[in-house]
Amino acid sequence: MDLFSNEPDLLSLSYQEVKTLAEKCTRCPLSKGRNKVVFGNGPVPCDLMLIGEAPGADEDEQGLPFVGRAGQLLTKILESVNIKRPDDIYIANTVKCRPPENRAPLASEQEACAPYLEAQIRLVKPKIILLAGAPAVKAILKAEEPMSTIRGKWLRLPGNEIAVMPIFHPAYLLRNPSKEKGSPKWLTWQDVQEVKHALEYFKRVAELAKEPED
Ligand code: URA
Repeated sequence: MDLFSNEPDLLSLSYQEVKTLAEKCTRCPLSKGRNKVVFGNGPVPCDLMLIGEAPGADEDEQGLPFVGRAGQLLTKILESVNIKRPDDIYIANTVKCRPPENRAPLASEQEACAPYLEAQIRLVKPKIILLAGAPAVKAILKAEEPMSTIRGKWLRLPGNEIAVMPIFHPAYLLRNPSKEKGSPKWLTWQDVQEVKHALEYFKRVAELAKEPED
Protein backbone atom coordinates (compact mmCIF):
# COMPACT_ATOMS: atom_id res chain seq x y z
CA MET A 1 0.00 0.00 0.00
CA ASP A 2 1.26 3.47 -0.93
CA LEU A 3 0.87 5.36 2.34
CA PHE A 4 0.89 8.72 0.57
CA SER A 5 -1.78 7.87 -1.95
CA ASN A 6 -5.53 8.31 -1.51
CA GLU A 7 -6.11 5.42 -3.91
CA PRO A 8 -6.90 2.01 -2.41
CA ASP A 9 -4.39 -0.78 -2.98
CA LEU A 10 -5.89 -2.71 -5.91
CA LEU A 11 -3.98 -5.83 -4.84
CA SER A 12 -6.33 -6.45 -1.95
CA LEU A 13 -9.57 -5.84 -3.85
CA SER A 14 -12.12 -8.21 -5.42
CA TYR A 15 -12.91 -8.21 -9.14
CA GLN A 16 -16.11 -6.21 -8.63
CA GLU A 17 -14.33 -3.67 -6.41
CA VAL A 18 -11.57 -3.11 -9.00
CA LYS A 19 -14.19 -2.78 -11.78
CA THR A 20 -16.19 -0.24 -9.76
CA LEU A 21 -13.05 1.84 -9.17
CA ALA A 22 -12.09 1.70 -12.87
CA GLU A 23 -15.57 2.90 -13.82
CA LYS A 24 -14.96 6.09 -11.83
CA CYS A 25 -11.31 6.45 -12.86
CA THR A 26 -9.82 9.84 -13.77
CA ARG A 27 -6.14 8.79 -13.68
CA CYS A 28 -5.47 9.97 -17.26
CA PRO A 29 -6.99 12.42 -19.78
CA LEU A 30 -8.73 9.61 -21.72
CA SER A 31 -11.37 9.61 -18.97
CA LYS A 32 -12.60 13.03 -20.19
CA GLY A 33 -13.61 11.77 -23.63
CA ARG A 34 -15.20 8.44 -22.77
CA ASN A 35 -18.83 7.42 -22.89
CA LYS A 36 -18.25 4.11 -21.12
CA VAL A 37 -15.29 2.50 -19.39
CA VAL A 38 -14.50 -0.75 -21.18
CA PHE A 39 -13.19 -2.73 -18.24
CA GLY A 40 -13.17 -6.27 -19.63
CA ASN A 41 -15.43 -9.20 -20.26
CA GLY A 42 -15.42 -12.95 -19.63
CA PRO A 43 -15.28 -15.48 -16.82
CA VAL A 44 -13.18 -14.89 -13.71
CA PRO A 45 -11.08 -17.00 -13.30
CA CYS A 46 -10.35 -18.15 -16.86
CA ASP A 47 -7.49 -20.16 -18.45
CA LEU A 48 -7.33 -17.89 -21.50
CA MET A 49 -7.04 -14.10 -21.53
CA LEU A 50 -6.57 -11.70 -24.45
CA ILE A 51 -5.22 -8.17 -24.09
CA GLY A 52 -5.95 -5.76 -26.94
CA GLU A 53 -4.92 -2.18 -27.53
CA ALA A 54 -7.77 0.17 -26.63
CA PRO A 55 -11.55 0.46 -27.02
CA GLY A 56 -12.86 1.92 -30.30
CA ALA A 57 -16.16 3.71 -31.00
CA ASP A 58 -18.39 0.61 -30.73
CA GLU A 59 -16.70 -0.53 -27.53
CA ASP A 60 -16.98 2.97 -26.01
CA GLU A 61 -20.69 2.97 -26.79
CA GLN A 62 -21.43 -0.52 -25.44
CA GLY A 63 -18.87 -0.72 -22.60
CA LEU A 64 -17.63 -4.10 -23.92
CA PRO A 65 -14.30 -5.02 -25.54
CA PHE A 66 -13.97 -6.13 -29.18
CA VAL A 67 -17.59 -5.72 -30.29
CA GLY A 68 -16.91 -3.78 -33.54
CA ARG A 69 -15.72 -5.19 -36.89
CA ALA A 70 -12.33 -6.25 -35.52
CA GLY A 71 -14.12 -7.89 -32.59
CA GLN A 72 -16.41 -9.83 -34.92
CA LEU A 73 -13.38 -11.17 -36.78
CA LEU A 74 -11.75 -12.06 -33.46
CA THR A 75 -14.89 -14.01 -32.48
CA LYS A 76 -14.72 -15.91 -35.80
CA ILE A 77 -11.02 -16.72 -35.40
CA LEU A 78 -11.59 -18.05 -31.88
CA GLU A 79 -14.67 -20.04 -32.93
CA SER A 80 -12.58 -21.79 -35.61
CA VAL A 81 -10.88 -23.65 -32.74
CA ASN A 82 -14.03 -23.89 -30.62
CA ILE A 83 -13.10 -21.08 -28.20
CA LYS A 84 -16.43 -19.35 -27.48
CA ARG A 85 -16.97 -15.79 -26.34
CA PRO A 86 -17.70 -14.86 -23.60
CA ASP A 87 -17.48 -18.27 -21.85
CA ASP A 88 -13.98 -19.47 -22.79
CA ILE A 89 -11.93 -16.28 -22.85
CA TYR A 90 -11.51 -13.15 -20.73
CA ILE A 91 -10.85 -10.04 -22.86
CA ALA A 92 -9.41 -6.70 -21.76
CA ASN A 93 -7.34 -3.85 -23.22
CA THR A 94 -4.17 -1.99 -22.21
CA VAL A 95 -6.36 1.08 -21.58
CA LYS A 96 -10.02 1.07 -20.52
CA CYS A 97 -11.10 4.30 -22.22
CA ARG A 98 -11.23 5.14 -25.94
CA PRO A 99 -8.37 7.30 -27.25
CA PRO A 100 -9.54 10.23 -29.43
CA GLU A 101 -9.82 9.49 -33.19
CA ASN A 102 -8.91 5.87 -32.38
CA ARG A 103 -5.22 6.77 -32.08
CA ALA A 104 -2.89 4.31 -30.35
CA PRO A 105 -2.82 4.79 -26.57
CA LEU A 106 0.16 6.75 -25.24
CA ALA A 107 2.68 5.02 -22.98
CA SER A 108 1.62 7.40 -20.17
CA GLU A 109 -2.03 6.35 -20.61
CA GLN A 110 -1.08 2.66 -20.59
CA GLU A 111 0.98 3.22 -17.44
CA ALA A 112 -1.90 5.03 -15.71
CA CYS A 113 -4.19 2.09 -16.56
CA ALA A 114 -1.64 -0.66 -15.77
CA PRO A 115 -2.74 -1.21 -12.13
CA TYR A 116 -6.22 -2.22 -13.39
CA LEU A 117 -4.75 -4.65 -15.93
CA GLU A 118 -2.39 -6.09 -13.31
CA ALA A 119 -5.36 -6.60 -10.97
CA GLN A 120 -7.32 -8.27 -13.79
CA ILE A 121 -4.46 -10.69 -14.51
CA ARG A 122 -4.18 -11.49 -10.78
CA LEU A 123 -7.91 -12.18 -10.51
CA VAL A 124 -8.46 -13.95 -13.85
CA LYS A 125 -5.44 -16.21 -13.20
CA PRO A 126 -4.95 -17.11 -16.88
CA LYS A 127 -2.68 -19.95 -17.99
CA ILE A 128 -2.23 -18.23 -21.37
CA ILE A 129 -2.34 -14.54 -22.33
CA LEU A 130 -2.68 -13.50 -25.98
CA LEU A 131 -1.35 -10.04 -26.80
CA ALA A 132 -3.21 -8.66 -29.82
CA GLY A 133 -1.07 -6.17 -31.75
CA ALA A 134 2.10 -4.18 -31.19
CA PRO A 135 0.77 -1.68 -28.57
CA ALA A 136 -0.22 -4.58 -26.28
CA VAL A 137 3.13 -6.32 -26.85
CA LYS A 138 5.01 -3.12 -26.10
CA ALA A 139 2.99 -2.35 -22.97
CA ILE A 140 3.23 -5.85 -21.46
CA LEU A 141 6.56 -7.23 -22.70
CA LYS A 142 8.39 -3.90 -23.25
CA ALA A 143 9.43 -5.51 -26.56
CA GLU A 144 10.05 -3.50 -29.73
CA GLU A 145 10.33 -6.55 -32.02
CA PRO A 146 8.09 -6.31 -35.11
CA MET A 147 4.86 -8.29 -34.98
CA SER A 148 5.97 -10.27 -38.03
CA THR A 149 8.78 -11.89 -36.03
CA ILE A 150 7.36 -11.96 -32.48
CA ARG A 151 3.87 -13.34 -33.29
CA GLY A 152 3.26 -16.99 -32.58
CA LYS A 153 6.18 -17.20 -30.13
CA TRP A 154 5.61 -18.62 -26.66
CA LEU A 155 7.01 -16.11 -24.14
CA ARG A 156 6.54 -15.51 -20.41
CA LEU A 157 4.82 -12.64 -18.64
CA PRO A 158 7.71 -10.67 -17.05
CA GLY A 159 8.24 -11.76 -13.46
CA ASN A 160 5.67 -14.51 -13.85
CA GLU A 161 5.19 -18.04 -15.15
CA ILE A 162 2.15 -17.23 -17.30
CA ALA A 163 2.62 -18.19 -20.98
CA VAL A 164 2.19 -15.28 -23.37
CA MET A 165 1.74 -15.33 -27.14
CA PRO A 166 1.67 -12.20 -29.32
CA ILE A 167 -0.80 -12.44 -32.23
CA PHE A 168 -1.69 -10.05 -35.05
CA HIS A 169 -4.40 -7.55 -34.12
CA PRO A 170 -7.71 -8.44 -35.84
CA ALA A 171 -7.94 -4.86 -37.22
CA TYR A 172 -4.66 -5.55 -39.04
CA LEU A 173 -6.16 -8.76 -40.43
CA LEU A 174 -9.17 -6.77 -41.71
CA ARG A 175 -6.72 -4.62 -43.68
CA ASN A 176 -4.89 -7.75 -44.94
CA PRO A 177 -7.69 -10.13 -45.93
CA SER A 178 -5.64 -12.67 -47.93
CA LYS A 179 -5.89 -16.22 -46.54
CA GLU A 180 -2.99 -17.52 -48.61
CA LYS A 181 -0.42 -19.73 -46.96
CA GLY A 182 2.04 -17.48 -45.09
CA SER A 183 -0.33 -14.45 -44.98
CA PRO A 184 -1.05 -12.77 -41.59
CA LYS A 185 -4.53 -14.37 -41.54
CA TRP A 186 -3.15 -17.84 -42.29
CA LEU A 187 -0.46 -17.39 -39.62
CA THR A 188 -3.09 -16.30 -37.07
CA TRP A 189 -5.10 -19.44 -37.74
CA GLN A 190 -1.93 -21.47 -37.03
CA ASP A 191 -1.39 -19.49 -33.81
CA VAL A 192 -4.90 -20.10 -32.46
CA GLN A 193 -4.64 -23.81 -33.21
CA GLU A 194 -1.46 -23.92 -31.17
CA VAL A 195 -3.19 -22.01 -28.36
CA LYS A 196 -6.08 -24.50 -28.41
CA HIS A 197 -3.64 -27.42 -28.07
CA ALA A 198 -1.90 -25.70 -25.15
CA LEU A 199 -5.28 -25.08 -23.45
CA GLU A 200 -6.19 -28.74 -23.84
CA TYR A 201 -2.84 -29.71 -22.34
CA PHE A 202 -3.40 -27.44 -19.30
CA LYS A 203 -6.93 -28.85 -18.90
CA ARG A 204 -5.62 -32.44 -18.96
CA VAL A 205 -2.89 -31.62 -16.42
CA ALA A 206 -5.53 -30.11 -14.10
CA GLU A 207 -7.78 -33.20 -14.51
CA LEU A 208 -4.87 -35.56 -13.75
CA ALA A 209 -4.01 -33.55 -10.65
CA LYS A 210 -7.60 -34.10 -9.41
CA GLU A 211 -7.71 -37.87 -10.11
CA PRO A 212 -7.15 -39.95 -6.95
CA GLU A 213 -3.96 -42.06 -6.99
CA ASP A 214 -4.36 -45.89 -6.83
N1 URA B 1 -9.46 -2.98 -30.68
C1 URA B 1 -8.89 -3.23 -29.49
O1 URA B 1 -7.67 -3.31 -29.37
N2 URA B 1 -9.70 -3.42 -28.46
C2 URA B 1 -11.01 -3.39 -28.54
O2 URA B 1 -11.67 -3.58 -27.53
C3 URA B 1 -11.59 -3.14 -29.81
C4 URA B 1 -10.80 -2.94 -30.87
